[in-house]
Amino acid sequence: MEFELSEEHRLLRKTARKFAEEVIRPAAEECDEHAKYPHEIIEEAKKLDFIAPAIPQQYGGAGMDFLAQAIVIEELTRGDPGIAQAVTARIFGCDMLLEFGTEEQKKKFLVPVAKGDWVMGSAITEPEAGSDVASIKTRAEKKGNEYVINGTKTFITNGSVADFLIIFARTDFNPPEKHMGITAFIVEKDRQGYIAEPLKKKMGIRASDLAEITLKDVQVPEENIIGQLSMGFYHLMQFFSRGRTAVAAQAVGIAQGAFDEAFKYAQERQAFGRHIVDFQAIQFKLADMATDIEAARLLTYRAAWQISRGGNPAREASMAKLFASRVAREVANEALQIHGGYGFIKEYAVERFYRDAKITELYEGTSEIQRIIIARSLLGKI
Ligand SMILES: Cc1cc2nc3c(=O)[nH]c(=O)nc-3n(C[C@H](O)[C@H](O)[C@H](O)COP(=O)(O)OP(=O)(O)OC[C@H]3O[C@@H](n4cnc5c(N)ncnc54)[C@H](O)[C@@H]3O)c2cc1C
Repeated sequence: MEFELSEEHRLLRKTARKFAEEVIRPAAEECDEHAKYPHEIIEEAKKLDFIAPAIPQQYGGAGMDFLAQAIVIEELTRGDPGIAQAVTARIFGCDMLLEFGTEEQKKKFLVPVAKGDWVMGSAITEPEAGSDVASIKTRAEKKGNEYVINGTKTFITNGSVADFLIIFARTDFNPPEKHMGITAFIVEKDRQGYIAEPLKKKMGIRASDLAEITLKDVQVPEENIIGQLSMGFYHLMQFFSRGRTAVAAQAVGIAQGAFDEAFKYAQERQAFGRHIVDFQAIQFKLADMATDIEAARLLTYRAAWQISRGGNPAREASMAKLFASRVAREVANEALQIHGGYGFIKEYAVERFYRDAKITELYEGTSEIQRIIIARSLLGKI
């Protein structure tokens, strides 16, 4: 493998692991049970630079690389996936601002987000357009120097806690092909006509915020456009490698967290006069789980390392996400199996990991979409 963790990465991993064990894990059950957004933990995370590890210091971040970001996501998630998502996804969509934002937009919007004082999100999905991003129907019509936005966005991470969202809307209603004519707008939460409806009844990562956003005649000035008019889809495509690698890191953290629980439990629980870890059937499960996790971690770190070196590894990021998310689901399932009936009861953390694992196969492109990308790349089509 070409990459190696630096001393800085190792130290970061140690600090993040300690934070996950001492601060995140004790709060996990309550945040999950009540779908509670962990404001106090976020304040603590800010002090340790866990909000924006890879955003340059000049814009309020910690100035490390993307591998550092992946390490933070993995380690915090190992403590609890829901709380970790609430902490590490506060900057979701920041790459659009970093890459395509004007200097003014960066100062006004990116800096407070990177410092952890503000929250942002990225709103692409609509009730009738998820995987098929280019089919979005939200409209932004030009009136003088302003755009008037109408539409509905659903499943928006941070939707009801965000200070602003990047909203993707159609600005060309008759483009030569549907990928054209989509524009990215910064829309602040206090604009008239912006309505956020929290979606609390979710299966996993319940400490993180999710909402449906309705936009009714929301007026935004022209200077809120990020990047080029009508190029939003193409701008967005440049960042999926980052988002997917981040979800892969989340999946590795979930798998490792579930494994830790099972490994501990197997050494405590007795059956037929022996600790269950002494049964070869359990040892083989643990061996397979540990091997799969290591493979998922290596794929994830490789993609993160390529991004750190300025690459945009579409195939590697999709492979990492596809594989790591499957490992998360399968390892969480085996970890629960090792707990027997107790795994089915909410007091045991493994039950949460089992529910939390599923999301990694769904967002930032479902597993089916990852396979399409990998296959296209194999065929030389991307
Ligand atoms: C907790 C959570 C957080 C989210 N956060 C955000 C967010 O912050 N911002 C945002 O914009 N979105 C967000 N999403 C939305 C998420 O990205 C979408 O749910 C996802 O992309 C899938 O879209 P869909 O739900 O419309 O499913 P669909 O696209 O309707 O897919 C349904 C099924 O059909 C399959 N399918 C679709 N097309 C194909 C194809 N061409 N070939 C084979 N199979 C196909 C899919 O893989 C899936 O199995 C979030 C979702 C959740 C659940």
